[in-house]
Amino acid sequence: MSAPLCRCCGKPIAKKSRLVWLVAGRPLTKAEKHCAPEIGRYVAVDSLPRSREECQKFANGAVLSISRTKAYWGTADRGGLDTFTEWDGVSYGDPYFCKGACAKAFGYAAAQREAAQ
Ligand SMILES: [Zn+2]
Repeated sequence: MSAPLCRCCGKPIAKKSRLVWLVAGRPLTKAEKHCAPEIGRYVAVDSLPRSREECQKFANGAVLSISRTKAYWGTADRGGLDTFTEWDGVSYGDPYFCKGACAKAFGYAAAQREAAQ
């Protein structure tokens, strides 16, 4: 399935991805376990993955982006990847528009057309 196109500008609408944080060497905290799904999710791993292919093992769907360990995330494993984004293969940010400004412009155009009749 290809991305739906914006009804206003015609650009492809962005995939709706989810952020995944990888935690190595300790169990997840209660807060991490109960993270709201719309914010992201945490996964406890034995050691941090080194590549996109290794991240894929922990993903629900396709891995879209990967990023390196940041010291402030509280893990000593600085060589690994501690976050990635995953996509379920079907979800997009919006069914009709790429951004709010396009929805607004489309609505104005419709109202103007109606007012002119
Ligand atoms: Zn648009």
